[in-house]
Amino acid sequence: MLRIRNLKCYYGRIRAINGVSLSVRSGELIALIGANGAGKSTLLQTICGLLPRWEGEIEFEKEPLQGLKPPAMVQRGISLVPEGRMLFPPLSVIDNLKLGAYLRYRKREHQGIFEDLERVLDLFPVLRERSRQAAGTLSGGEQQMLAIGRALMARPRLILLDEPSMGLAPFLVRLILDTLLQLKEEGITILLVEQNAQAALRIADRGYVLENGRIVLEGNAVDLLADQDVKRAYLGKD
Ligand code: ATP
Repeated sequence: MLRIRNLKCYYGRIRAINGVSLSVRSGELIALIGANGAGKSTLLQTICGLLPRWEGEIEFEKEPLQGLKPPAMVQRGISLVPEGRMLFPPLSVIDNLKLGAYLRYRKREHQGIFEDLERVLDLFPVLRERSRQAAGTLSGGEQQMLAIGRALMARPRLILLDEPSMGLAPFLVRLILDTLLQLKEEGITILLVEQNAQAALRIADRGYVLENGRIVLEGNAVDLLADQDVKRAYLGKD
């Protein structure tokens, strides 16, 4: 579904991604793990068109993505749940969700948008309870659910998540990750960036380890969980 070959990304003259190749097959849940500054956010932002300075090849459903802007990516079926959630704090929960369907309103997909809104509110019942509340007044966990819900409102086939567990209590991390498994069962393909490597690899099919802008290890999630180097560097175990 997504194939990246020899990707290099730049901030001015600084090269933040140094020749990354990876692939995500339809229906997979892929974990991308790595320390602070490894380049995980840069990779996700590049895939969805937010960072235009890159070389190499990115193909989504066999079409090259070079030169496409974020709205075109959303229209092709790629949604990002950004690091830090990036909600609109004064707007209500419902209005934040509707903004996720912004491009679909232009196409007058009112019925489909209504159905998806119901689906998201069923997926996260707490958002239904708080639907009229300003997003900025939600708890961290609720805000993360809202950020995921907003991404779903674009009806994506591939969803990119940037550290959804950040700052959340363990039971909320489990709830968010369980939700991702549910979305996977519904047929959505997932690329999950996490510093919480253990949690991510437990639910993933395969994983990639990024260090200093390079993939240093890749494999089945169960094998990565058992790998001595991964354990030492990312799972806090000897
Ligand atoms: P984190 O978990 O801390 O977000 P990350 O793995 O997502 O880390 P990136 O944020 O992608 O890493 O950063 C990769 C590299 O690019 C780092 O060296 C970082 O300092 C650099 N970088 C990120 N954003 C910019 C920017 N706007 N301008 C210049 N350099 C940047």
